[in-house]
Amino acid sequence: MELPTLSTGGEKQEKRKNKRTSVIVIGSIVLVVIYLGWHFDKYRKIPIEHAINPIWWIRHNAGTDLYDPDTGMLYHGNPKLKEIALTIDDGPNPLYGPDIIATLHQYNCPATFFVVGLRARQYPNILREMVKDGDEIGNHTYDHQRLPALKPHEIADELRDDDADIFRATGIHTRLLRPPGMEYNQKVLTVSKALRYQTISYTDAAKDFLPQDPSFISNRIVDRCENGSIILLHQDTPDTVKALPAIITTLRGQGYTFVTIATMLKHMNVPPLDNKPPKSQLWDIGPGQE
Ligand SMILES: [Zn+2]
Repeated sequence: MELPTLSTGGEKQEKRKNKRTSVIVIGSIVLVVIYLGWHFDKYRKIPIEHAINPIWWIRHNAGTDLYDPDTGMLYHGNPKLKEIALTIDDGPNPLYGPDIIATLHQYNCPATFFVVGLRARQYPNILREMVKDGDEIGNHTYDHQRLPALKPHEIADELRDDDADIFRATGIHTRLLRPPGMEYNQKVLTVSKALRYQTISYTDAAKDFLPQDPSFISNRIVDRCENGSIILLHQDTPDTVKALPAIITTLRGQGYTFVTIATMLKHMNVPPLDNKPPKSQLWDIGPGQE
C-alpha cells in the first residue's frame, strides 16, 4: 500500500511563494489596465495625481476637497448646485482679450478674469471693459512669477503690485488669487491668506494656452463639466474665443448656470477673508499690511 505523500515545509513555502507571485502579477495587470483606461480616455475627469492618491479619495468622500478654510483655498464649487464658474487667466491680452470680452457680453455670460499686473498697467482700457458688465477680477501676480520659488516678502509684493495696478485701472481691489501655473505650497498659501486672499484652483482645463483645435477645447471642457466645476481658460491664442460659444450654449443647454467665483463661494456659505489676520502670520511679508 502506498502511503500519501506528506507535504514538507519546503513545499508549503513554495506554494506560498507561488500564491504571492500570482497576487503580484494579477495586481500589476489590474493596475496597468486601470492606467491604460485612464490614459486613453480622451476626457479624463479625475487627474492621475488625484486618482492614485488615497488621501485625495478620503478628502473627496468627506467633502473637504471643495473648500479648505484653513488655507482659504477653493478646489471645487457646490456639487449640489447645477452651476459652474468660468475663469480666464493671463489677461488683459490686447490681441484676443477684446474678442473674449465681447463674446461673453454677447452671451451675457459672467466670468472671473485672473489678471497680470504688468498687462493691466499696459492695457487698462481692456481691463475696464472686463468689469463693465459685472465680470470679476482676480489677482494673477504682477509678472506671472512661479510663487513657490520666491521668498515670503517677494510673494507679498507680487500680489500687492498686481492689486495696485488693477486698482489704478478699475478702482477695484482683488480678493481672489490664482497662482501662475497653479503652482503653490504652504508658504504661498500662508502669505496669500495673510493678505486676505482666497486661492482659487480649477477643475477643468484644455491647455488652451497653446494653439488647439477649438472643438477640442469645447468638447474637453463640456465633457468634464459637472456641478460646481471651475473652468480654466486663457487669453493667449485665437482658439479660445472660437471655443467659447459652444462651451456656453452646450452647458446652458444641459441646465448649467454660469456664475462668478464670488457667487460660487457665497453659495457654499464661505465668507470672504476680510478680517484682519493674526499678527503671527505677518512675520516677514514686509510693510504695507497695516
Ligand atoms: Zn497664467
